[in-house]
Amino acid sequence: MKPTKVDLHIHTKYCPCAKEEMTVKSIVNKALERGLKVIGVTPHSYPIVEQGLKRLKTYEKVREEIKAFSNSNLQIFLGAEVDCINSSGTLVAGKEIAKRVDYILAAPGHYHLSFVNKPPQNKKEKFYYHHRTISNLLDNPLVSAIAHPYSSVLEEMNILGKSARKCFEEIALKAKKKKKAIEINNKFFISNSYPVEFIESYKFFIKVLAEKRVMFLLGSDAHSLDNVGKVPGNIFEELDISESQIWLPQSRNFA
Ligand SMILES: [Zn+2]
Ligand SMILES: [Zn+2]
Repeated sequence: MKPTKVDLHIHTKYCPCAKEEMTVKSIVNKALERGLKVIGVTPHSYPIVEQGLKRLKTYEKVREEIKAFSNSNLQIFLGAEVDCINSSGTLVAGKEIAKRVDYILAAPGHYHLSFVNKPPQNKKEKFYYHHRTISNLLDNPLVSAIAHPYSSVLEEMNILGKSARKCFEEIALKAKKKKKAIEINNKFFISNSYPVEFIESYKFFIKVLAEKRVMFLLGSDAHSLDNVGKVPGNIFEELDISESQIWLPQSRNFA
């Protein structure tokens, strides 16, 4: 499977942060048009905090909508991007969401959300706090993969440079042991908003993981149709990562 055929992090219009055009039907059509083979739609968990457990219905609704495309040339999974609220790796409605989806993409570092505990201000402490959060999420049995790890501490990551290797190796070992995936999220690579040295530091992180043969989840984090399928596939070639390290969800049987 080529990395550019997979996109397991796509948002739908049911999250206020995504565009109205993000219906399951349009996402599927766009994915087919772009030659994708496997996609995953991953509604956010934050509407549940804002509006209560009734918002779990989103997952059921999207599951129903996906069924209409079961005969297409595309394998479609239902995931969830679930907010982690503290450094212990606690998820928003984790158990309730896990019952309804094929995989949980756990998001550390959504520090902009009011219900998520804030990290320390000191840069190094902030990095280690975030690192601990990821490590604890890997221990959480509900989690299949970590969404955009370290994305909220890029500056801190860059300051630490190669001395962060130990942390990355620890994450690599744990991810392998617990059979979990680490996301390579497109947002660092398509937007020009990050300094080159931040991107280089991030590539160093991916490189350390790749050498330990960690499995990677590829995600566009699309909130609009134009970004569906835009995953950083070229990083596989650039860092010499094997295609066998592309993580795919398991199909689960929902009655
Ligand atoms: Zn996120
Ligand atoms: Zn996302």
